[in-house]
Amino acid sequence: MEHIVIIGNGISGITAARHIRKLSDKKITVISAESDYFFSRTALMYVYMGHMKFEHTQPYENWFWKKNGIVLRKGFVKTIETKTKTLHFAEGDTLHYDKLVIATGSKSNKFGWKGQDLKGVQGLYSKQDLEQLEIYAPNNTTCNRAVIVGGGLIGIELAEMLTTRNIPVTFLVREDSFWNIVLPKGESEMLNRHIKNHHIDLRLSSNLREITSDENGHAKSIIIEETGEEIPCDFVGLTAGVSPNIDIVKQSDIETDKGVLVNCFLETNIKDVYAIGDCAQQRQTIGNRKPIEAIWYTGRMMGEVVAQTICGHKMAYNPGHWFNSAKFFDIEYQTYGWVFPKPMKGHRHFHWKHEDDTKCITIEYDIINNTFLGINTFGIRMKHETFDKWLNEKRNLNYVIAHLSEANFDPELFQHFEKNIQLTYKKQLQTV
Ligand SMILES: Cc1cc2nc3c(=O)[nH]c(=O)nc-3n(C[C@H](O)[C@H](O)[C@H](O)COP(=O)(O)OP(=O)(O)OC[C@H]3O[C@@H](n4cnc5c(N)ncnc54)[C@H](O)[C@@H]3O)c2cc1C
Repeated sequence: MEHIVIIGNGISGITAARHIRKLSDKKITVISAESDYFFSRTALMYVYMGHMKFEHTQPYENWFWKKNGIVLRKGFVKTIETKTKTLHFAEGDTLHYDKLVIATGSKSNKFGWKGQDLKGVQGLYSKQDLEQLEIYAPNNTTCNRAVIVGGGLIGIELAEMLTTRNIPVTFLVREDSFWNIVLPKGESEMLNRHIKNHHIDLRLSSNLREITSDENGHAKSIIIEETGEEIPCDFVGLTAGVSPNIDIVKQSDIETDKGVLVNCFLETNIKDVYAIGDCAQQRQTIGNRKPIEAIWYTGRMMGEVVAQTICGHKMAYNPGHWFNSAKFFDIEYQTYGWVFPKPMKGHRHFHWKHEDDTKCITIEYDIINNTFLGINTFGIRMKHETFDKWLNEKRNLNYVIAHLSEANFDPELFQHFEKNIQLTYKKQLQTV
């Protein structure tokens, strides 16, 4: 019987395994060095914050895998030998595969900062990172101050986590406004204020020069590059992005760039070897999408697609319209279609912000034909399927503004904002 081996039990690897099982009776083995069972990485923050236990982040009961004939193997794959289709484990043994799926995810970026490997310095990615965080930042007695380096989605999650234990946080952000490499000015500036309102010591335009050590090899302070200022701290969170976790692949004859290079069928240059999820890099970019997308739902989609191909129904990966969501302390963020920090050539932004400074929307549209191209919403929860439909139908801005309440989860509550948005729209554009 054909043996499918998957390296990685994250959302992409596990989705592939489940779908291969749905479609076939092939032998399936899923390998992970991180955890016995699949868990939701996006829920890690809630474990530290006390909202759930780690076991609650596991969407399937432990018996599920055996019952469905999916073999789970704990171990670290050290080398991939594609000529003989053999995996070599750090533990010394080997495993033969007929088809291999690489789903090894990401790792936290470290940029060679002095002190980056000291005790009390870490990223936030794995189950082990969470365990380390409990050791170095369990409360504000052990950890008088934490410094977070890198202003993205994981950095802000870590800031929120630490503040729930009353640990003072300094947040170093390289950009001159929070996440403005992704968000338009109005949104980014609203978030600067929101972060400060949560008593975070937000330092914009600030890079890390080095982390200093005490006599036990533990982080003692950080020094800011631009000012030379030294900030004493007991914990340093490195959240300056993630990159594909592909060191083991680099030593093989499977082609890599930043990630494992794949075609639209998620096939690598080596027959019977596929790559999916955070570690995969598309050779041909899809629309405006980045060649590597380190997000949950695309990993799940790739898992479904590769399962089809492996089971003989060759299928191209086609993720559809871009969407994403996140949370910045109390403010929920959703994005559908494309909204760039500055409108692309030939496009314009319509921006509305509520007076309470926690809700806003930005719509990107085409100047000539008024076509709706994308929306960012903050503090207002919208329906994915409605925006997907409008993007497919190439609706224009007037239509979208007039029908916004249809996209809202709570149309009654939204009525008030909707009027306000429409009024702002009239004032800004004077076209309706
Ligand atoms: C704190 C945090 C919050 C996030 N929040 C969001 C969010 O709100 N929305 C969103 O879309 N995305 C979010 N993400 C990103 C999302 O979690 C990832 O995109 C997704 O989990 C990646 O899934 P994956 O299956 O590709 O890889 P992973 O989940 O990283 O799984 C890969 C697995 O492979 C194992 N592995 C790697 N190499 C080997 C080896 N050599 N041998 C054995 N095992 C190996 C790893 O240990 C790991 O268990 C978040 C990420 C983090 C860290």
